[in-house]
Amino acid sequence: MSNKEIYNFSAGPTALPTSVMTEMQREFLNFENAKASVVEISHRSKDFMGMYNSMQQDLRDLMNIPNNYKILFTQGGASAQFSMVPINLMCGKKVASYALTGHWGEKAIAEAQRYAKVNIATSSLGNNYTDIANFSKWDIDEKSAYLHYTTNETIAGLEFDYIPSVDIPLVADMSSNILSKKIDVSKFGIIYAGAQKNIGASGLTVVIIREDLIGAADKKMPKLFDYTTYSNNDSMFNTPNSFAWYSGYKVFKWLKSNGGIDSIEKINNQKAALLYAKIDNSDFYSNTTNKRYRSRMNVPFTILDGRLDELFLQQSFENNLLALKGHKVIGGMRASIYNAMPLIGVQKLVDFMVEFENKYG
Ligand code: PMP
Repeated sequence: MSNKEIYNFSAGPTALPTSVMTEMQREFLNFENAKASVVEISHRSKDFMGMYNSMQQDLRDLMNIPNNYKILFTQGGASAQFSMVPINLMCGKKVASYALTGHWGEKAIAEAQRYAKVNIATSSLGNNYTDIANFSKWDIDEKSAYLHYTTNETIAGLEFDYIPSVDIPLVADMSSNILSKKIDVSKFGIIYAGAQKNIGASGLTVVIIREDLIGAADKKMPKLFDYTTYSNNDSMFNTPNSFAWYSGYKVFKWLKSNGGIDSIEKINNQKAALLYAKIDNSDFYSNTTNKRYRSRMNVPFTILDGRLDELFLQQSFENNLLALKGHKVIGGMRASIYNAMPLIGVQKLVDFMVEFENKYG
């Protein structure tokens, strides 16, 4: 690869695999046998339905999703799931338990409080979302309709390395680490994820749901917030975001043809290890998250002299390393290194960090 290569570390929407982008560009005016663009054909057409069926099967294969789970494609982002989960799962119960390990958990809780009494099973607020309390210390109300947690908190970069074991339905916001490592879907009641990190363009949300959890939504709620509406209509009760679906279709094929989750997980681990090693081997950069729970997808770090932040961002951009600014609530830098980021991109970032430190450290 030439030095001119550009690497995009955005937290989402973010880079899609270059080969996927090129292919989408090439066939944008003529989707497969349709003689029209994928965004110009009916979602009821044979071509579009073919794409839908293929996406369903590819995702099922990639994640090894058991037959008693449905895959729904919803709209409204992961944020709409913050409401849909309680609307569909409370079933007359009063309490839902939530693990609060970051900003997105906060948002999920705030929304759930409109429909349920929320029991905070654990909170990482006291350590600024840099650590997760031992599971044995969690306080899960046994009368809860479900336990909700965020498998990877995108802003502070805090990722679970295990699946909590509970007797109530387990609900996971997997927006920022779905498809990045092998997981046992059968441990979950619901997994949901916005597309714009590891799946494709924004505007599609994937919901993987155990069938018995469909059908008990509060009937006073809008039809579009009832999982049944998606389940009974191939997720096409209303017109879907055809471009976002198309991008997911392409990304699933890309993942499959590159060895599936096992292969990408190995590369993801290598990328994260490389970057954290650079941070840890220097007095110039820092990341204070408990090493066990450091995110392999979102790597926030600070420069000890914060006055250098702007210069770092400016020079990294000039070196074709994009979108390294940390989220505004924590500042500093953040490198998001999702599936589409190749190892060489992380190597280029590390090389730049070394150079910058040598100059200004
Ligand atoms: N959950 C997580 C973990 C996220 O990272 C995000 C977005 N970055 C959201 C939820 C919200 O997603 P959306 O914008 O698709 O509603």
